[in-house]
Amino acid sequence: MSFDRDRLPEPLAYFQGEGLTLQGRGKWRTTRCDFHDGSDSMRVNIDRGSWVCMACGAKGGDVLAHHMQRHGIDFVQAARALGAWTEDGAPPPRPRAFSATDAAQVIVLELLVCLVVISDARRGITPNEADWARFLAAAGRVETIAQEFKT
Ligand SMILES: [Zn+2]
Repeated sequence: MSFDRDRLPEPLAYFQGEGLTLQGRGKWRTTRCDFHDGSDSMRVNIDRGSWVCMACGAKGGDVLAHHMQRHGIDFVQAARALGAWTEDGAPPPRPRAFSATDAAQVIVLELLVCLVVISDARRGITPNEADWARFLAAAGRVETIAQEFKT
């Protein structure tokens, strides 16, 4: 049995299938957040399937992560539910320690938070207290990781 990432559904189809209405154009869409019942705080990347809520901080790197967190199921259950689990005899993936790849993923997501705040600012939208706190937290996390991997 093994995980086949190529079999994951297209992000747009997946999120719509979860009952979300994606607003806006381009690769970043806005939708409601079911994690804290927010009306329009979730940003979804329809190319990569990554998602982040500007209000409650729920986030993940792909549709699989969303399915796990949204439905409270583990990796294999989510992969199965999304048709990305193949029964071909290979061993299941082993959980890893926090690697440089994980760190890079966290940094990408935190940068995304910064990007949203900055692009909002560019359009004349002043970040509210919650967004600003999130922005500072993101900067703090990147700093922490920078320390962790300092050689
Ligand atoms: Zn939220």
